[in-house]
Amino acid sequence: MADLELKKAILDKIKEYDSIIIARHIRPDGDCMGSSLGLRDILRTSFPNKKIYSIGKSGADYLKFIGTEDSEVSEDIYKESLIIAVDTSVKDRIDNDNVLKGKELIKIDHHLNVDPYGDICYVRTDFPAACCIIADFYDTFKDELKMTKDGATALFCGMVTDTGRFRYAGMTKRVYELVGMLMEYGIDTEFVFSNLYIRESGALKLEGWVLNNYKETPNGVAYIHLTKKIIKKYGLTYDDAAALVNSLDSIKGNLIWIIFIDLDDQIRVRVRSRYVECVAVGQKYRGGGHPRACGATVYNKKEIKELVEYADSIVKEYKANNEGWL
Ligand code: AMP
Repeated sequence: MADLELKKAILDKIKEYDSIIIARHIRPDGDCMGSSLGLRDILRTSFPNKKIYSIGKSGADYLKFIGTEDSEVSEDIYKESLIIAVDTSVKDRIDNDNVLKGKELIKIDHHLNVDPYGDICYVRTDFPAACCIIADFYDTFKDELKMTKDGATALFCGMVTDTGRFRYAGMTKRVYELVGMLMEYGIDTEFVFSNLYIRESGALKLEGWVLNNYKETPNGVAYIHLTKKIIKKYGLTYDDAAALVNSLDSIKGNLIWIIFIDLDDQIRVRVRSRYVECVAVGQKYRGGGHPRACGATVYNKKEIKELVEYADSIVKEYKANNEGWL
């Protein structure tokens, strides 16, 4: 189906249902919360007689400034609802056990479409954030839809966070146009950026520790293992520690950077890169994601070593065949 037809099909479904539940992925980030809350705002404002919910199990305190989700609803409500899952590439990563009980399911996402689930599957890998897809959807049907400043702020926040503050390669003319369209709703950008940048002193101190203690491989992978002990020493939560992934993003010659964070029964891996693609690392170790930003799971130090060696081999090959990287 062509892009416009898919968008029309989604709008038709939205119009058809009296009750719509928006879901998003586990370990919520700015883009999944922004797209969920932004879409909720658009639907509530445009269709005041419908019941619109944004529901997820786990939260993220640092994103509360863009709004909060709704409490869980009964199974009966799911049974009569349209479910829209945003920013979630694979069905298993939806942070809501009830979504498959819904009457119909729509996937709206910008990751590689490895699991084309849903009665309607709308994937735009040309957009750097799910919030761009929602903003573009809104822009397409602007004559029929409405949005408030809160909705625009939530979408803006997701775009800001998923593009590394508008730095990554996915920033196209169309994305800037969508940012401009959202700005018409009076977004307070100082409010957004203050909420995203201001940090507890403990987090800055742990970042200092990360910068003093990260390791480098021979070909250019920077990595750090954040154990429970070190996270506790700085009085931080696991989320604070996970947020440090980009502390290693600007070290000359290190084209892939990785943080390993201890959880109770597994080690979460966050992998990022510039110039070279790193998603193969995620895919090899029980994960996936975007070409240059992916996640994985490992279970012990041996696997950490193997994963780092694999990432190193990717950088080695890239550097052998390319020039002009920094
Ligand atoms: P993260 O470092 O967890 O923010 O992940 C970076 C990107 O990869 C995000 O867009 C995630 O949605 C995606 N991702 C992380 N872990 C997985 C996984 N296990 N499977 C598929 N995608 C993932």
